Amino acid sequence: VLRLESVRKTFGGSVVLRDVDLEVAPHTVTALIGASGSGKSTLLRCANLLEEIDDGAIWLDGEEITDPDADQDAVRRRIGVVFQAYNLFPHMTVLDNVTLAPRRVHGVPRAEAEERARELLERLGLAEKADAYPDRLSGGQQQRAAIVRALAVRPRLLLLDEITAALDPELVGEVLDVVRGLKDEGMTMVLATHEMGFARDVADQVCFLDGGVVLERGTAEQVFADPRRERTRRFLRRVV
Ligand code: ATP
Ligand code: MG
Repeated sequence: VLRLESVRKTFGGSVVLRDVDLEVAPHTVTALIGASGSGKSTLLRCANLLEEIDDGAIWLDGEEITDPDADQDAVRRRIGVVFQAYNLFPHMTVLDNVTLAPRRVHGVPRAEAEERARELLERLGLAEKADAYPDRLSGGQQQRAAIVRALAVRPRLLLLDEITAALDPELVGEVLDVVRGLKDEGMTMVLATHEMGFARDVADQVCFLDGGVVLERGTAEQVFADPRRERTRRFLRRVV
C-alpha cells in the first residue's frame, strides 16, 4: 500500500530522516517506535505530504506521490490521519465533524454521509454522541470520534500519531481496542506509539527509529523479544 524509498528530510540543515526505507503491505499494521525526536511524526507527515521530502520517493498503491505532477489532494483523500490531540472542530457536532470531509471533499450527499457516519459512530460505540459537541465528550470518546472522522472517507491507509498520548491512562484502553478492531477488519495502518505493549500486541511490523534512521525493523516478536542492535535493546530496556 505504502512504500518509502531512501527518504531524506531536513529541517534547516539538520537531517531528521536519513535514507528511510519502509514497506507497508495491505491489511498490516506497522508500528514506529523510538525516542522522542527520532523522527516518527515527521515520517508520518511526509507520508501524508504534509511535509515535502528532500530526497527519495514515496509510493501509494503503486503511484509515486512525491512526483511533482502527483495530485496531492487526491493522495490526501486516500489517507486518513489522526493526531495526538485537537482533532475535532470544537464548534461542530460530532456528526458534522464526521460528515464534513465526505460532503465537502468527496461530494457525498448529506443524507448518505450522515447515514454512513451514524453507522461508523455506532460501530465505535459513539451512537448517542452524534449530536454532541466535542467538549461534552471524554478524551477517549473524542479520539474515537476523530478516528471515525478519518474513516468516513474510506481511506486506503490510516496514519495514527500517538493517538493515546494525551489521554488519561484509564481511557487509553478504549482507543487501543478500536485500533485492534480496525486491524481485524483489515485496515492498513501505520502508527507512531510509545505504548510498547500495544505495539507488540497489534503490529505486524515494528520499525525502531533512532536519530532519523530506521535502525531495526522486523516482526513485533523479533524486535521486542530478540533485538539485533544494542541501541534497540537499550531503548526497550528503558521504556518497557
Ligand atoms: P515524539 O516521540 O516526541 O513525538 P518524534 O519521533 O515524533 O518525537 P519528530 O516530531 O518527527 O519526532 O521530530 C524529529 C526531529 O525533527 C526533532 O529533532 C524535531 O525537533 C525536528 N522537527 C520536527 N518538526 C520540525 C519543524 N517543523 N521544524 C524544525 N524541526 C522540526
Ligand atoms: Mg511525534
